[in-house]
Amino acid sequence: MNSVRLQRDVVKAEALRLGFSHCGLAPAEEVDKAFMRHYEQWLSEGRQAGMHYMERYLALRRDPRLLLPGARTVVSLAMSYNPGTEPTQPALAWYAQGRDYHDVLRQRLQILLQVLGLEGRICVDTAPVMEKYWAWRCGLGWIGRHTQLVVPREGSAFFLAELLLTQESDHYDTPLYSRPYHEGCGRCRCCIEACPTLALSDEGIDARRCLSYLTIEHRGPLPQETCRHLSECFYGCDRCMRACPHLSHEATPVEDFIPSDELLSMSPADWLRLTPLQYQSLFRGSAVKRAKYEGLMRNIQANRK
Ligand code: SF4
Ligand code: SF4
Repeated sequence: MNSVRLQRDVVKAEALRLGFSHCGLAPAEEVDKAFMRHYEQWLSEGRQAGMHYMERYLALRRDPRLLLPGARTVVSLAMSYNPGTEPTQPALAWYAQGRDYHDVLRQRLQILLQVLGLEGRICVDTAPVMEKYWAWRCGLGWIGRHTQLVVPREGSAFFLAELLLTQESDHYDTPLYSRPYHEGCGRCRCCIEACPTLALSDEGIDARRCLSYLTIEHRGPLPQETCRHLSECFYGCDRCMRACPHLSHEATPVEDFIPSDELLSMSPADWLRLTPLQYQSLFRGSAVKRAKYEGLMRNIQANRK
């Protein structure tokens, strides 16, 4: 056991200084059994579609101490990508308008560890961590009916990341709500009603119907019935997130997530004429690379059907 104690308020202050909007700490322990049962039930219904990585490493997902031997603390962090009232490129989901968040968050978490004089494991959407659960557990918010983390009065336009540390903290945060799911939503169903493909229900999300999954993760032709709902956005879909009454109009202070003028100036006609060279230039260092040129063109063409 590492005997040096973390000072929670110092960790939080440094995280905020580095551009994170929220940060909370919780003891590293097993994820709540009911939460894992709900997750496994969701998997057994095939609602993860082709995201088979979500079925793997269940033991690690259940207990973050298996990801870092001796881990005693989970730090959950959220960084805003909300454009507020600033201009955006309507063809892409908000999260994909700037630099690849994996790189931006990882670099800043490396600095955070350096500043605090710590070693630990950085997780930015790549390790099998139940990140929304830990965000709830660390007091950042709750998991809404659209299955994303909701920060009260700020919404869901946040990237999430975790640090696993072997030190104990002098203080830990407590959840804002007694259960991870829906408690802060009350009777609201705005996101369910805003979803054009009926991918959302009280049972959660069905990725097989979700435009975000289909346009980013899915390989092969898009289902016909999906295409007619693409509208002007052909990479991701923010409709449920943007329907949430908690979404604020405060823009992210992180310049890396601000779209370039080149991206902003792309018109529907420009997208149709996009060449591989232009694609390389527009999306250098961007998360859109995940879809590859062919995948993006598939979405652009499907948008016209
Ligand atoms: S991202 Fe779009 S398609 Fe997917 S659940 Fe939300 S509103 Fe529905
Ligand atoms: S739109 Fe309403 S139901 Fe959906 S996550 Fe936000 S508060 Fe919850």
